[in-house]
Amino acid sequence: MLVLGIEGTAWNLSAAVVSDEGEVAEVSHTYVPKEGGIHPREAAQHHSEHMPRILEQLCECMAQKGLSLRDVDGVAFSQGPGLGPALRTVATAARTLSMMLEVPLVGVNHCLAHIEIGKWDTGAHDPMVVYASGANTQILALSKGRYRVFGETIDIGLGNALDKFARAIGMSHPGGPKIEQLARKANSYVPLPYTVKGMDLAFSGLITAAKNATREHPIEDVCFSLQEHAFAMLVEVSERAIAHTGKEEVLLVGGVGANERLSEMMRIMCTERGIAYHRPKKRYLGDNGTMIAILGMRMLKHGITTPIERSEVIAGYRPDMVEVVW
Ligand code: AMP
Ligand code: MG
Repeated sequence: MLVLGIEGTAWNLSAAVVSDEGEVAEVSHTYVPKEGGIHPREAAQHHSEHMPRILEQLCECMAQKGLSLRDVDGVAFSQGPGLGPALRTVATAARTLSMMLEVPLVGVNHCLAHIEIGKWDTGAHDPMVVYASGANTQILALSKGRYRVFGETIDIGLGNALDKFARAIGMSHPGGPKIEQLARKANSYVPLPYTVKGMDLAFSGLITAAKNATREHPIEDVCFSLQEHAFAMLVEVSERAIAHTGKEEVLLVGGVGANERLSEMMRIMCTERGIAYHRPKKRYLGDNGTMIAILGMRMLKHGITTPIERSEVIAGYRPDMVEVVW
């Protein structure tokens, strides 16, 4: 089976084709805001401008392997969650391709696609998933046929929080990797708010306090302490979810998972509890088209398709809205 997947919930427009053996081709183009953060309308414009070329390049990659669009058995797309205008652009392209090629359309939940590619790349079987990306931060695990959310951010996603702080101190988007570099040069620790509410997390107070702290402390020290606080919050809730469910593996996914300090902290927690720790390759951590194609293929193999009349985008698509039958 050959499935084409298109991702475009936010900053990354990416189209990929996967087969039963794995990845066949992936072509991406990144939207970088001229100033400030991601603007939904600009992201949609970026996606519609680059979609034709992305698909052309994908066809060129397929041709090198003796394949063409006519060989595709299904078209999967990110149905949500994400930025409405960006999602609609991707959905329109996916519907068109599905009709043109006369193959089924599969609307994919973006969060579940992160999980699925993580499992596919690492061999994780039934993990407690720590999903830390730009807009989303959730701790989830499979229970009774759905990925249940054990804890999540109640304000902004961890990646967006880091990006916001970085912008406030004059760094360009995305800020997460720049904060990580600066944090490595820190000399001392700055106390900041630590906000865990039951099983949920909040980052906006921490970001405000970190911004204020830059007036009195070296930027490197603030970056270090910001990371230590935010990541410890995430590890605390993850550990409690593991203790509660008895899961024996952790899978870290989402763009923020690229952070070596976060990964180290998760690994230490797992080692101390005697459970396995998994993290996919970097290129599969952030948003990518391959993950949409992979989950699309799993769904298609279980007979799940999305008729055009039910293919409207779902900006607030929660992972626990989906019954997991694959
Ligand atoms: P995603 O939404 O999953 O594509 O992830 C994008 C987010 O990951 C952005 O907010 C980035 O700032 C963040 N990110 C990427 N690399 C790192 C890193 N090394 N440390 C922290 N955050 C990162
Ligand atoms: Mg994502």
